[in-house]
Amino acid sequence: MARIPVFAANWKMNKTLAEAATTAKEMRAQFGATPGAEVVVCPPATALYTAGEIFKDCEIALGAQDIFWELKGAYTGLISPVMLKDAGCKYVIIGHSERRGRFGKDDPSLTAEMKAVFSDNDATVNRKAQAALANDLRPIICVGELLAEREAGKTDATIAGQLEKALKDLPADRADEIVVAYEPVWAIGTGQVCEAAEANRVIAMMRQVAAKALGDKAAQQVRLLYGGSVTPENISKIMEQKDIDGVLVGGASMQADSFAKIISDGFSAAKAKN
Ligand code: PEP
Repeated sequence: MARIPVFAANWKMNKTLAEAATTAKEMRAQFGATPGAEVVVCPPATALYTAGEIFKDCEIALGAQDIFWELKGAYTGLISPVMLKDAGCKYVIIGHSERRGRFGKDDPSLTAEMKAVFSDNDATVNRKAQAALANDLRPIICVGELLAEREAGKTDATIAGQLEKALKDLPADRADEIVVAYEPVWAIGTGQVCEAAEANRVIAMMRQVAAKALGDKAAQQVRLLYGGSVTPENISKIMEQKDIDGVLVGGASMQADSFAKIISDGFSAAKAKN
């Protein structure tokens, strides 16, 4: 079954309002129309509304980088699903490794205080995904193994465990709105891309996990992306892979030119395999 490819940009904690507006305008000019593909841009929360206004008259969808599950109330600093919808979001990244605290475990430059801030876990990821769907937002759920888990031969068990818990009780009839990104933690922001065939193998395994959680038909509709040091140079090889439906891109998504090349080359490779 041909699934619509997804090209998602995660700007992380980068760009002032002026910078975000400039990049958003460049992106609208370069790939504001992408028939047959879905392009999602996730600016920091402060720039959501500004970018959303710029994307309003084009096909680029706005996404947030995190969400809280309560709709409103005394939760200082958090952002509710209602607020994300109000700001114009269609998508939201959930459980990025930089929010799960998993990156911190491996990174000696992060202090204990910083690790405490990155507090997502399998249960909160599931709760956030449920809240997103209940409020008409499409979750981009991230899963990924640490280098130590890969080296210990625990990649498949780690990913299957995270995914099974993330998908628990999600509505199977909304499967076409659910996106999951396989992001090996050791490949994020390191320049060390996971070998395309290996990423494809893990992603094919993830579809079997999705089938157990949501049923076979629904699992065929979930979009499964790869993320981790994707660049204009390696995108074709990644998107040629049979089971990879798209990419979640950090560093190379922050400039319009490089993300434009990722979309055009990636989309050509996706079309060639269908
Ligand atoms: C990410 O932030 O999800 C990501 C994959 O980053 P990068 O592309 O920079 O590795």
